[in-house]
Amino acid sequence: MNIKPKKSLGQHFLRDDNIAKKITGSLTCYGNYKKVLEVGPGMGILSKHLLKNPAFEWYGIEFDNELVDYFKKQFPDAESKINYGDFLNYDLNSLFNNEKYGLIGNFPYNISSQIVLKALKHKTQIPEIIGMFQKEVALRIAANHGNKTYGILSVLCQAFYDVEVLFDVGDKVFYPPPNIISAVVRMKLKDNATDFKNEKQFFQIVKIAFNQRRKTLRNALKSYLSSDAMKPALFDKRAEQLSVEDFIMLNDYVTNYKNS
Ligand code: SAH
Repeated sequence: MNIKPKKSLGQHFLRDDNIAKKITGSLTCYGNYKKVLEVGPGMGILSKHLLKNPAFEWYGIEFDNELVDYFKKQFPDAESKINYGDFLNYDLNSLFNNEKYGLIGNFPYNISSQIVLKALKHKTQIPEIIGMFQKEVALRIAANHGNKTYGILSVLCQAFYDVEVLFDVGDKVFYPPPNIISAVVRMKLKDNATDFKNEKQFFQIVKIAFNQRRKTLRNALKSYLSSDAMKPALFDKRAEQLSVEDFIMLNDYVTNYKNS
């Protein structure tokens, strides 16, 4: 079967089976999940290895009907496990209820940040994520404060997950080559992620602070907090100067201030 890659769906098919093994072998089953969800299995180069692993049951969500048909023919045993749909709009509870699952994929580059942000919404059920990203995005996810690439994605991911950039993948191993370097990231859910306080407020503060990243927090958060609340010296800093722990402290401070 001749599949013509669709640009609009970020299709770059991996062709190197050793790299496929290295990616799928990066799942450690941390958190003891028994199911794995693959975003965009495509022609199944990762799925093939995942389906062989007795440690978990495989599920897939693929947004290209042609590929879903192809997949079903290639892997008849997994026919009922591959689902057609857009991961970003997919009702994940319909697949997993309250069960835990690992998340994996050679993510479509155009929506990889959104995939991670959606995973964050379901994080208490997702103890581990293995994702292939455009390297630039991988570095953003893992960036430390004081760094230009440090931003919303870094703080939100690292507040809840321990993040590791595992290895780079060159572009020649894809069809078609994406003309960028990719990198594989592993994220393991932190223990504190399940009892995080005032999470909604935390997301808001991080977003507002970085949306005006050149300003001090005192200026950036003007419409959000009273000047009285922003007396502490921490508010003299800019968003990118705050570590993830600082943001968590700031969130606790705001909670306490509002309750006082
Ligand atoms: N895993 C395969 C394909 C990677 S390319 C491989 O490594 O070769 C990215 C895949 O994600 C494609 O199959 C594409 O059709 C699929 N995809 C793109 N957008 C998607 C979405 N919103 N939801 C689910 N899958 C999507």
